[in-house]
Parts: sequence; structure tokens; C-alpha cells
Amino acid sequence: MLLPAGESMSYARKSVHDMNAHHPIAIVGGGPAGALAGALLAEEGRDVLLFDEKLAWEKPCGGGITHKALRQYPFLADAGSESNPVEHCELISPSGQRVRFQMQHPVAIFSRLALNGLLLERARRAGSEVAARVDVRHERVTRISGTAGNWQLFTPQREYHASYLMIAAGARNSFRSQFLSPISPSDLMVTAGYFIPGRSSVMTIQFLKGITGYIWVFPRADHVSAGIAGKMGETSTAELRGILEGWLGENGFSLDLDGARFYSHILPSFRAQTFDKLEVCGEGWAMIGDSAGLVDPITGEGLYYALRSAEMCASALLVGRPDEYRERLKEEVLAELKLAARVSQRFYNGQIFGDSVLERIVSLTAQSASFRELMSDLFAGIQGYRDLRSRLYQILPAVMAEGLGGAMGWRWNKSAKFAIDPVAE
Ligand SMILES: Cc1cc2nc3c(=O)[nH]c(=O)nc-3n(C[C@H](O)[C@H](O)[C@H](O)COP(=O)(O)OP(=O)(O)OC[C@H]3O[C@@H](n4cnc5c(N)ncnc54)[C@H](O)[C@@H]3O)c2cc1C
Repeated sequence: MLLPAGESMSYARKSVHDMNAHHPIAIVGGGPAGALAGALLAEEGRDVLLFDEKLAWEKPCGGGITHKALRQYPFLADAGSESNPVEHCELISPSGQRVRFQMQHPVAIFSRLALNGLLLERARRAGSEVAARVDVRHERVTRISGTAGNWQLFTPQREYHASYLMIAAGARNSFRSQFLSPISPSDLMVTAGYFIPGRSSVMTIQFLKGITGYIWVFPRADHVSAGIAGKMGETSTAELRGILEGWLGENGFSLDLDGARFYSHILPSFRAQTFDKLEVCGEGWAMIGDSAGLVDPITGEGLYYALRSAEMCASALLVGRPDEYRERLKEEVLAELKLAARVSQRFYNGQIFGDSVLERIVSLTAQSASFRELMSDLFAGIQGYRDLRSRLYQILPAVMAEGLGGAMGWRWNKSAKFAIDPVAE
């Protein structure tokens, strides 16, 4: 912050503190990240100004919430009829080999209209017991100016003032370039999909040849979200859409039914080197959720990281040490996401014993009960990437574990075979 001539740093700190006392904390974006941050801050007595240009809406998404997220946020597990708990998963390899298995922990599949509505409602209600004010504005923030302690936010309706700024505006976020650099196309996936009327009790994942991504069919309470994701620059949205439509037709889904609606969106999929340099906060501001790029580059899971980053950022603010958000995120979240980024290309495109890694994973799932358990834990989010190698060595014959480890780029080290880092790409 620039100090007026002759003013001391302690004066500047005092004036920032004074402004903090009467300006609310502004959150731009009322998706899962922004809405949870708003609720947590208000519950502890902070006034919050939360903006979303659409409020609750059917954001293009699978809506799959893992057991890890349900355990951390039990109010989501209690949401009952808002979600569809799915216990069965079908994996299909690029050559068409299929395996169906029961997951030990169901994945809760939400419509995003319901999920966002539920989280925004919690934010609205939070704070009433401690007389904090949560002002949820159905407005688009078009410009932000000012500095820490006194931000000005402009919407077509009016101007607002805030002491602290949380950017939770998702992956298509016009403010990233104001605070950081825009997300590079090499760090993005493109997605295309359909919301299709109908019901199913199986979550389907189809891996594809030559595409760093997959097709999914996620059954929700009253419809199905089917989609496809691929790395930006490798495959265009039109090509992905064509592949998905062909697959849906072959697998008994009719897009001619009334109400099948097309969607497409971008999804952060950061490379390891991008995670290495990632900045998530600065003087008086922070980015959470997709705005910060917090999505698993292998699975595309972003909802847990949106919620967890919101929680970490809010708790750092509440103890008056906002910069702690950076450190806590680095330790817990970025360490995992960086590992995923390192192996993502090899997971989708690697070879093992003359087969693709994806074919081998589907056949191991079909052949081995312990491998099915591992897959079930991966889908539940309770098997992390950091100790995945050691589990592979425990459940697979050594030659297969070494083959898979080698294909994923994990360096074999005889003296410490369970404690080595994947080779950086
Ligand atoms: C096709 C697809 C499928 C996915 N499937 C899954 C899945 O099954 N499971 C999973 O865990 N993750 C999935 N993800 C990722 C998940 O959708 C995101 O990680 C998650 O939505 C991030 O939440 P967020 O709150 O950070 O951002 P968002 O959900 O994108 O919310 C951002 C909000 O900001 C608002 N906004 C933006 N700009 C402004 C502005 N200027 N002013 C006011 N409001 C603004 C928007 O209206 C929006 O509501 C998927 C993503 C895609 C694209």
C-alpha cells in the first residue's frame, strides 16, 4: 500500500483496521466456495456482502460429491432428497472392456441448482444468532478498485465498499488478471454435456483413446448429467460434443427426449509447474475454489476443493492472519493436487506392458477384489495420491506394481520403495 508522505506504517495499519471495523467482507461469486465462505464468516459475527450474478443456477457440472466431502461437511450428507446417493460404478476402457462394482461409500450426486440453493440459503441464515449481516446481492460485479481495507466494488446497480475481498467467481473469472495472470489455455479442460431426463442407479465413466479426459454419466435425483472433458487445445468442444453424442446414442440415451439440454464450460486442470508458482492471496484479497484453479487434474473433482479452500480462507481471516490461508492450502490441498498434475498425462496416455494404463486399470478392477477396493476409495476421495504407490505395492504382484508405477513416472528406488516422489514431467 502506498503511504501518503509523512505518515507512518502504524498509522496506515490503524486506518486499515478502522475501515475493517465498518466495511463488510465482500465475496464475489455465490457458488459453493463463495456461499460456504459467507456462511462461515457470518456465523462468527462478520458482516458479509455476497454477490452472484445468477444466484442458485444449474452450473454445468456432474455434481458428484465424494465421501471425503460429505464427511467434512455433514450438512451435505443430511441434505437427503436434494441428492442421489449412488453406490454402483461402471468403468469402461477405451477398447470397450466393462467392469461394474459396488463402492463402499456412495457418491452423492447433486443438481447444482439444488446444491447452490442449499449453500446460499445457509449463508443467508448464518449470522442471525450473532447479529451479523449477510447481504446476498443478485448483481454482477463489473469492476473492483481500491486497496486492502477499502475496496470499491461496482455493479450496474451501485457501488459498494468492503474491507476484504474474496474472489470466488469460478473459472471464467474476469478478475483473475487484475490480481494474478489469467489462466493459461494449457491449464484448462473443455467440457461439453447434456442434462437428460431419466433415472439411473449407476455412475458410468468411459475412458477414451487419445483424449486426456473421459465421458461421465452421473445420475441425479430426477435427471442425468452426462458429459465429456478433454484438455484445451487437444480437442475442440465441437469434437468432444460429437464424440459424446455418438456414445450416448450407442448407450441408449436419447437426446431427442423433450428437455435434454446441452451445456459446455471450462474446468481448471493445472500443470505441476503452474501449481508450483500458484499465488492465492495478497494484501487484502484471496481467491478460492475454481478462481484459484483448485481442481484435481485427473478426476476433475472441484467441489471438495472449493468448499475446503473457502473454509481455510475464512478461518485464516477469522483469526486475523489472512496469509495463513496460503500456507494451509499449500500443505494440505496443493500437495495432493500437484501430485495429481504430475501423473495426469501418464494416467491418460501412458503405456504398460504393451497396453494403455487405462486398459490395465479397468482389467485390474475386473480381476482383483483389492484393486476394486482401491478404486472405491479413490472415488470416495479417501485414498490420497501421496500414499497411492505404497498401496499399489501392497495389493498387486511386485511386477505389476512396478510396471504401473513406472508407467505413471514413479521412480523405482530399492532402498525406499514406498517413499519416493513421482518424476516431474
Ligand atoms: C462439466 C463439469 C463437470 C464437473 N463435475 C464435477 C463433479 O462431478 N464433481 C466435482 O467435485 N466437481 C465437478 N466439477 C467442478 C466444479 O463444478 C467446480 O469445481 C465448482 O463449481 C467450483 O465452485 P466455485 O464456487 O469455485 O465456482 P463456481 O461454481 O463456478 O461459482 C462461481 C459463481 O460466481 C458467479 N460469478 C462469476 N462472476 C461473477 C461476477 N462478476 N459477479 C457476480 N457473480 C459472479 C457465478 O454466477 C457462479 O455462481 C465439474 C466442472 C465442470 C465444468
